[in-house]
Amino acid sequence: MSIRQLPEDLINRIAAGEVVERPSSVVKELVENAIDAGASRIVVTTAAGGKGLIRIEDDGHGMDRADLVLSVERHATSKLSADDLDDIRTLGFRGEALASIGSVAELSIASRTAEAESGLRITVNSGLRAGPVPQAMNRGTVVEVKNLFANVPARLKFLKTDRAEAGAITDVIKRLAMANPGVHFVLNGSDRTASNWPAVTGTGALQARLGQVIGDDFSQNAVTLATSRHGVVVAGLAGLPTYTRANSLSQFYFVNGRSVKDKVLVGAVRAAYADYVFRDRFPVVALYIAIDPGEVDVNVHPAKAELRFRDAGAVRSAVIRAIGEALAAAGFKASGTVAE
Ligand code: ADP
Ligand code: MG
Repeated sequence: MSIRQLPEDLINRIAAGEVVERPSSVVKELVENAIDAGASRIVVTTAAGGKGLIRIEDDGHGMDRADLVLSVERHATSKLSADDLDDIRTLGFRGEALASIGSVAELSIASRTAEAESGLRITVNSGLRAGPVPQAMNRGTVVEVKNLFANVPARLKFLKTDRAEAGAITDVIKRLAMANPGVHFVLNGSDRTASNWPAVTGTGALQARLGQVIGDDFSQNAVTLATSRHGVVVAGLAGLPTYTRANSLSQFYFVNGRSVKDKVLVGAVRAAYADYVFRDRFPVVALYIAIDPGEVDVNVHPAKAELRFRDAGAVRSAVIRAIGEALAAAGFKASGTVAE
């Protein structure tokens, strides 16, 4: 037995297992890149639940030749400077997504900056790069991913039906759209999954976007949250105690513009409604927390869905208070004292 340094392509395929679990994770990474690039309109097209094709088109700042080539290298990112892991303001920062995707699929990236006279396109197939070659296009970036996991049969086997994977993609897009009301989202999918949510801005933008994505029914049966306590800003909509669901699928949590799964927030919502809602019912909520980036660690999980608050107690009590006050103002009075 001897130790050997693994080849780059194999390292990327191993890393890809963490970043790219299923088609919806590819969609998430690519749409986040489009948002980080300042896109105002993002068009998502998928076929066969994303297994056949994922295409993301944005009108963001694009990449020049040097950046385009670097973008598919591992640990290459424009978003993290020397020492600011404590101050992450972009959705991406690991520089791993494109390299990972290129190692487990046929990846094509075409991009054009505002200054460039034309676009350029590169392809990566099982880790092998070709290009750049000229490509006629408008400013922005078009990323295409075909035959995802075709070279990773073990992973392919664990994917669900096209319909289930398409559903997971829709869920990812919904969350990204809820977090970014100022961005126009178009989702071209088969039949029911197609959506078109024009940008909304100004006061009430959040409510308008939630109406587009979740339905006006929710916004009409919810109270608006708008408080700030101890540096924790709580915004969004909290459903009336009379408007509940049998599961938690309609609870959406965002921290600094990122959709998250977080026990502290889930627990705070449960506590806030403890006096109004039966234990087996779940209020519908879209909760937006804004907090100093230094107060939260987003580098806990490769997909960045989990995070850690430095002061979980402050966040919990801010959420409980925000919801409690809004419900009280709407005439719902707690019977007992809610534990903070
Ligand atoms: P990360 O987002 O963590 O930086 P990625 O592998 O997702 O890593 O992307 C690598 C780099 O490629 C990004 O830092 C960015 O500079 C560039 N890039 C990726 N997608 C786009 C896009 N849609 N528009 C402009 N630049 C992009
Ligand atoms: Mg990224």
